[in-house]
Amino acid sequence: MLYLNGHFVRPEDAKISALDRGCLFGDGVYEVIPVYSRQPFRPAEHIRRLEASLAAIGLPNPHTAEQWIALVKQVISQQDYEDLSIYLHVTRGNAGERDFPFPENTPPTVLINPAPLVVPSQEAKATGVRAISHADFRWLRCDIKSLNLLPAVLLRQAAKQAGCAECVMFRDGMLSEGAASNIFVVKNGVIAVPPKDHLILPGITYDVVIELAQQHGLPLEVRHISETEVRNADELWMTSSTKEVLGIIELDGKPVGNGRVGPLAQRLDSYYQAFKQTIMRKPITC
Ligand code: PMP
Repeated sequence: MLYLNGHFVRPEDAKISALDRGCLFGDGVYEVIPVYSRQPFRPAEHIRRLEASLAAIGLPNPHTAEQWIALVKQVISQQDYEDLSIYLHVTRGNAGERDFPFPENTPPTVLINPAPLVVPSQEAKATGVRAISHADFRWLRCDIKSLNLLPAVLLRQAAKQAGCAECVMFRDGMLSEGAASNIFVVKNGVIAVPPKDHLILPGITYDVVIELAQQHGLPLEVRHISETEVRNADELWMTSSTKEVLGIIELDGKPVGNGRVGPLAQRLDSYYQAFKQTIMRKPITC
């Protein structure tokens, strides 16, 4: 069952109007919350990011944080799977016409769609993945988790056609992020990652990885990183809710460092796995 506008319905019965502004304009935002052993991971942080995305596009939030979490828990309780990825989607609704300015008195469309969570296997983590690079041709509000995902569609397709898993983006000679992940760089044992500004999505995994690096006393710099630094890095890795910490071993056909997943990527992923275990053992707290 998925949740659509106040009702729990089977996916085949979930109907959204063809004139929904999400469909016509991508006029909406979304979130993805990973769930381990039926426990949502960092739910308060995901809902805060959803609130920030809604506020940034002037779309009134239809639910309080508590209501969102309650809905997510209800959706989780109806699933057969223990590990899930919960997709939340809010659009500016169906105004009945195709007109750009915000409609008045139009309720938003709210969709919560669960799916089994598929994270990379231990073998995939050990092997790492290859990536291509591309100019970051997205807009200047990449901090909003907007439904307009055409750039990610095109860049991930280009990556797939090149036999790669991700596309690392550069804007004005500086690293921004991956098409659907944040990118960390290591040089001489120092981890670096771009700051959270309007040019990247503030990743929840990004935050966790920074916290874990700091807790374990690993040197880490949050700063702008040049394309040259990325191309000369000892290690590169991507982070996201579904990829966790995944080493990038090749960029544009050239090996990153020695061409194998680096020791810091492995350490951060093992810290991340241990952190996940603590979440799974705890009851839901919010
Ligand atoms: N950047 C972009 C562009 C993304 O799409 C994602 C995945 N949602 C991320 C970063 C990583 O965010 P998170 O760690 O919250 O999954």
